[in-house]
Amino acid sequence: MKTDHVNTCPAGNNIQAPNKTPLDADKIRNDFPILSRKVNGKRLVYLDSAATAQKPRQVIDAIASYYTDHNANVHRGLHTLAEEATAAYERARDKTAKFIGSVKREEIIFTRNTTEAINMVAHSWGRHNLKHGQRIVITQMEHHANLVPWIVLAKITGAELEYIPIDADGYLHLKDINDIINSRTRIVALTHMSNLLGTINPVEDIIDLAHKKNALVLVDGAQGVPHLPVDMKTMNADFYAFSAHKMLGPTGIGVLYAKDDLLGEMQPMQYGGEMINEVRYNFADWAELPWKFEAGTPNIAGAVGFSAALDYLEDLGMEKIREHDKMLIAYALERLAELRQFKVFGPKNPEHRGGAVSFVSPHVHPHDLAQFLDMQGIAIRAGHHCAQPLTKLLGESSTARASFYIYNSQKDIDELITALEAAWRYFAHV
Ligand code: PLP
Repeated sequence: MKTDHVNTCPAGNNIQAPNKTPLDADKIRNDFPILSRKVNGKRLVYLDSAATAQKPRQVIDAIASYYTDHNANVHRGLHTLAEEATAAYERARDKTAKFIGSVKREEIIFTRNTTEAINMVAHSWGRHNLKHGQRIVITQMEHHANLVPWIVLAKITGAELEYIPIDADGYLHLKDINDIINSRTRIVALTHMSNLLGTINPVEDIIDLAHKKNALVLVDGAQGVPHLPVDMKTMNADFYAFSAHKMLGPTGIGVLYAKDDLLGEMQPMQYGGEMINEVRYNFADWAELPWKFEAGTPNIAGAVGFSAALDYLEDLGMEKIREHDKMLIAYALERLAELRQFKVFGPKNPEHRGGAVSFVSPHVHPHDLAQFLDMQGIAIRAGHHCAQPLTKLLGESSTARASFYIYNSQKDIDELITALEAAWRYFAHV
């Protein structure tokens, strides 16, 4: 499919750009030390939060304070520091459980990131529950993290891999969904929000449908949970995976939420210390949930930093963050529509999308564009965004992507547009 929706209408189909935001992005920006640095002599305009978000001082301080005052290994020591470290680590689990809809604490498994969480499901659930003739369903807009594990699992088990297609506007094309998710389907794995198109998928409807066909659903929440209020009880996903680093937390810690009955039946992915109940020379059995899935010393400082990130997001309020995102998306789409030389991908309606906006221009390679913008202090991403099949489907080998978060304002988007115009003039020699 070669999409052909070069911008022709400002503000995308007459959708009005809301210009009020409940967040004070300039004030928030002051909490992020990195945003006060200059890049190439210019004010840093960070538009790459879909890759990783910047960290507020509160998160940096929490990690420093953990290492300064409390550092010890968890779950095994009896001294004061070990008890403090264990309490801090487990507090992070409680906060995470509350943040996604007050689920049970044993349903929160700390992983390294979204990728590891999805691999855990493919390995620990998939290898034991899938066989030849059964079906795994994913979508055409998946990040490699929610694609490659299923390709490998299909090869290992003999299950078939089927895709929900997308349409020219970047929405899932659901006309044949009842045939795609059929009685042989055991699992559906789809992204909550596309990191390339920005599309927010109707995950609840798809979960309902999949459950009616006795299939489980994994939602890749890497882009969802940083930007949307998420409640596992209403969503009813069986598995939900996300990364702390995309929601103001540190790198190296992520989450697999899974229903406890599923976790109870699943085998661990890794074996060793921390995850056992009893070990003899020829025998081992496993600890209770959630520790059964957390072999070895975990990322304790990461959990502490993640706790502080969750506090920060909760103080702002996820509803307000979503409103702020919508304002920025609407404004960005409206301004990008003025640049007739640029083609923008994904839904035009801010209600249906998040703040990762990909675009191309016939005269400028996305990598050149990213480098040109970097000279102006503007950080965007260029490439296939770990979604090679989707990028190809769009008829491109790479795209440029600007992505927004709580510390971005309309001023950042104005600077982006000015720099894009200048880049186009420079590369197109006009
Ligand atoms: N899924 C989506 C939609 C993403 O955007 C990303 C990262 O960009 C991932 C999964 C993988 O996240 P991580 O690299 O933190 O595992």
